[in-house]
Amino acid sequence: MLTTTATVSTKGARRWDAGHPWIYRSDVIQRPTADAGAVRVTDQRGKPLGVALWSPRSEISLRLVDRDPAATLDAAWWRARIQRAAARRDGLDRATNAYRLIHGEGDLLPSLVADRYDQYIVVQLMSAGLERYRREIVDALLEIAKPAGILARNDVPLRAKEGLDTGVELLHGAVPDEIEVQEHGVRYLAAPWRGQKTGAFLDQRENRALAGRVARGAALDCFSYHGSFALHLARCADTVTALDSSAHALMRAEENFRRNGFANGHFVEANAFEYLKARERERARFDTIVLDPPAFAKTRPSLPAALRGYKEINLRAMRLLAPGGLLFTASCSYHLTKPLFLEMLEAAAADSGRRMVLRELRGQPLDHPEILTVPETGYIKGALLEAID
Ligand code: SAH
Repeated sequence: MLTTTATVSTKGARRWDAGHPWIYRSDVIQRPTADAGAVRVTDQRGKPLGVALWSPRSEISLRLVDRDPAATLDAAWWRARIQRAAARRDGLDRATNAYRLIHGEGDLLPSLVADRYDQYIVVQLMSAGLERYRREIVDALLEIAKPAGILARNDVPLRAKEGLDTGVELLHGAVPDEIEVQEHGVRYLAAPWRGQKTGAFLDQRENRALAGRVARGAALDCFSYHGSFALHLARCADTVTALDSSAHALMRAEENFRRNGFANGHFVEANAFEYLKARERERARFDTIVLDPPAFAKTRPSLPAALRGYKEINLRAMRLLAPGGLLFTASCSYHLTKPLFLEMLEAAAADSGRRMVLRELRGQPLDHPEILTVPETGYIKGALLEAID
């Protein structure tokens, strides 16, 4: 007979008590024989701990979804859980029509991401246990958010580790190639089928608005993608240089500038490291600089090299600031913790010869909830700095 109960070690049980939903393969003492889906979980003495999503092929074998051992993951359960996530975002639609509706573990829905772009939803189902509930999840989203289309951007390597196929698949209705996003007064096109992540970087929305509010003079946005920060800078700065190593991203940035009627943008295809170095050699000056690079530390072993990279671009940006100039700098590397991020900025400031005031420390927006006891839910760090001499 198939067993649908898992027994976990004391270490695994303690992890759940401390608020972390993952149990690794090595902490599962007795594995269920059932296929991926929901299983009941007990500790070594047989005490029930709750219900978890079960991924037989994954290193993360169990993901706790309900502390009530009697919970049944039926349509009503998914509806209620997704409704709670939606309620947490109340009021966000006044500032934007694109936001994260479900931030996985941060919304107590492990391995599930759902981003809303206007009338459309892009989902990512990132575990075998979760995949089993695809129908219930799609039905709940249809009922709660009433989208015109749902697209699965399941083209993520994580799925392979779960033994799942990867690809992009339309799950409901129709989803266009491009969707106009309105974000704190600027407009840009998200690309749900082919763009980065689910079509745009929604996690920096509030930081972009902040950078836009303080921007002035000659501005530089160094890892601009489709002009995300640059568009906000363009509202108050005299000129904006949007820099990216991808010509295709820059083409989209130019189009987004036109869409907003901004005529003060310059678009530069370059490696940010080389560009900053060359400008420093010329003693160029900027009044506002944004650094929002891709994750340099994708794995823990790559952290030391990543730290050198972060320090280098920050050091050069600090040197390029005009007196009173502002730098908004960010890191989305999970492995670069908040203390390490600050330490890196301190080291860069020390070497830059500038005195940098820390005006604001920033993190993730409301729609990307970061749970203190689940560090994996938080990855964005940001700082607004001012060069006062
Ligand atoms: N700031 C953007 C997200 C940036 S994603 C936003 O808020 O939406 C990172 C971008 O950096 C990508 O567009 C990528 O093409 C670009 N990139 C990666 N390495 C680079 C490099 N060395 N120099 C310049 N751009 C780079």
